[in-house]
Amino acid sequence: MAAVAESEALAALHRVFGYEAFRGEQEAVIEHVVAGGDAVVLMPTGGGKSLCYQIPALVRPGTGIVVSPLIALMQDQVDALRALGVRAGFMNSTQDFDERRVVEAEFLAGELDLLYLAPERLRLESTLDLLSRGKISVFAIDEAHCVSQWGHDFRPDYLALSLLGERWPDVPRIALTATATHATHQEITQRLNMPTARHFVASFDRPNIQYRIVPKADPKKQLLSLLREEHAGDAGIVYCLSRNSVEKTAEFLTRNGIEAVPYHAGLDAGTRAAHQSRFLREESLVVVATIAFGMGIDKPDVRFVAHLDLPKSVEGYYQETGRAGRDGLPSTAWMAYGLNDVIQQRKLIQSGEGDEAFRRRAAAHLDAMLALCETAQCRRGQLLAYFGQDPDPAGCGNCDTCLTPPETWDGTIAAQKVLSTVVRLQRERRQKFGAVQIVDILLGKRTGKVIQFDHDQLSVFGIGEELAEGEWRGVIRQLLAQGLLAVEGEYGTLVLTEASGSVLRREREVPLRKEPKKPVTSRSASASSSGRGAGKPKVAAAELPEELLPAFEALRAWRAEQAREQGVPAYVIFHDATLREIATAWPTSIAELGGISGVGEKKLATYGEGVLGVLASLEGPPGAPAGQADAGAPPVPRTAADQGGPDDWPEPPEGPEPDDWM
Ligand code: ADP
Ligand code: ZN
Repeated sequence: MAAVAESEALAALHRVFGYEAFRGEQEAVIEHVVAGGDAVVLMPTGGGKSLCYQIPALVRPGTGIVVSPLIALMQDQVDALRALGVRAGFMNSTQDFDERRVVEAEFLAGELDLLYLAPERLRLESTLDLLSRGKISVFAIDEAHCVSQWGHDFRPDYLALSLLGERWPDVPRIALTATATHATHQEITQRLNMPTARHFVASFDRPNIQYRIVPKADPKKQLLSLLREEHAGDAGIVYCLSRNSVEKTAEFLTRNGIEAVPYHAGLDAGTRAAHQSRFLREESLVVVATIAFGMGIDKPDVRFVAHLDLPKSVEGYYQETGRAGRDGLPSTAWMAYGLNDVIQQRKLIQSGEGDEAFRRRAAAHLDAMLALCETAQCRRGQLLAYFGQDPDPAGCGNCDTCLTPPETWDGTIAAQKVLSTVVRLQRERRQKFGAVQIVDILLGKRTGKVIQFDHDQLSVFGIGEELAEGEWRGVIRQLLAQGLLAVEGEYGTLVLTEASGSVLRREREVPLRKEPKKPVTSRSASASSSGRGAGKPKVAAAELPEELLPAFEALRAWRAEQAREQGVPAYVIFHDATLREIATAWPTSIAELGGISGVGEKKLATYGEGVLGVLASLEGPPGAPAGQADAGAPPVPRTAADQGGPDDWPEPPEGPEPDDWM
């Protein structure tokens, strides 16, 4: 590259990766590490962590050693790098002796830019010995939060990594993670023995992800509506808490014409690997999974992440939803949440393992998650504040509460009615009951169980006829979330808390959130996510002017062919975002194509003629005489007609009232 002042790092960014400029903290991190400094890097998923160590590894002499727990993904990571012309290799237990010998020889001969290793391999004396016989440019410790004993991703082998600094004091180390809490941050620094490391904390905002949390009524059906109406043909992940619900949900989607596979710890390793591999390679597969799925999956075109159960913490929720939209295109983080989620999670904590301190911590994590679910404020603002970042006071404009602000109402009297019923049962009858019975009493329903226990004789019987069943469940849910009511024992009976008294004594008000009658869909979002639905183009193609769709689709078909021939995921050839830009700019020469973001030197050499051939076989850029590329074709704005009307809203759940609508 010509510019005199261009650093080696920037040159590598242009030449190898084909990107225009660094993003956010990347430049500062890379400069620091290239100069030999240690770094601890916190960046959200999709923030661009990989370049932070890949570029130093390319610029500094020697091989960059990448420690990663994700053995199943190493092959894909290495394939993606080789496609860029980077000399990469890996060593892990999936290889046989001969394959490993080849990699070792390459390393010793100085023929590798990057070498990926699993932590359990790195700690072997034989590996350390091998490494000391070669030249190392940088140690990158990916998914560094695995060193944290509090996290659900703890890997004991990560603890041994503290040795690296002692054994190679002159080699810079960079630890990277998307887990952002202060505590994890400190633990990483301490346990990896990096006291002098500089800390880089990127913004945690993921503006292209639309956050939505909807009241749970019939979750599988709600999910189906979401997928059919907004994500037809898109790849995505659905998270459920139990293996059983994973299996059932995957079956349900498949039965309804959406290709879905299960992923959980109860499946054998071969099946899991096969499902993960399909997810990476196919463009429209849905994986239904427990949290065991997804860490480190760098598939860029995951268009939605759906939660059918409440995650245990905001950290977990943010990591999981962060797997959507790494390519920067509009994506959805959707969750269905209801009273039973709260009861179940509270019960889990009480009956779970661990000492009192552990339970307290778990409860605090859950409280933060519940606060996010119940907020009437901007969801993104709440998330960012949780991670210590100042949110935009005006709201983000791309979450459900910003798009359809929920009303609040004074729920003090309703709260008193619920709490009084619990008190009466406890004091007058020495009984405890769950939410169903409390609601039946409030509504004055003479069910078998009400008659059996004479609950129609209580003074509170029938005092709550002004609200419907679903509304009462919503009140109870919010009281639980606010700590004004608690869950006890294996049956999840409701009991008072210390704070309940202040409500009963009328010392405080209880504002409650009323859910919007119409759920938000991305079509009600005025912002970037444009109208889509059955028969509408997928998001990758959305915002492309209609007349460019044939070019985009032709490029995708060409890419699919290439991917099939080489046995790699399609995004290893080019990302959707790059194909979109190619369709828009319509380059007619290799030089023009090389100017497009995501087209580096190697890919230009490998695929340049192929891409130009695809474009040449078409009728030429729309609106321009053949052969004249128009890079500035403005996207056609979507019309109001595309935004969808009430007829397009998801079907209301069966029955007069959703069982859980608030
Ligand atoms: P992370 O590891 O932090 O989740 P990645 O390193 O996988 O994120 O990067 C996310 C996506 O952003 C990738 O598709 C990557 O190619 C792209 N990307 C990273 N840095 C840049 C940049 N400076 N310019 C353009 N795209 C980038
Ligand atoms: Zn918002």
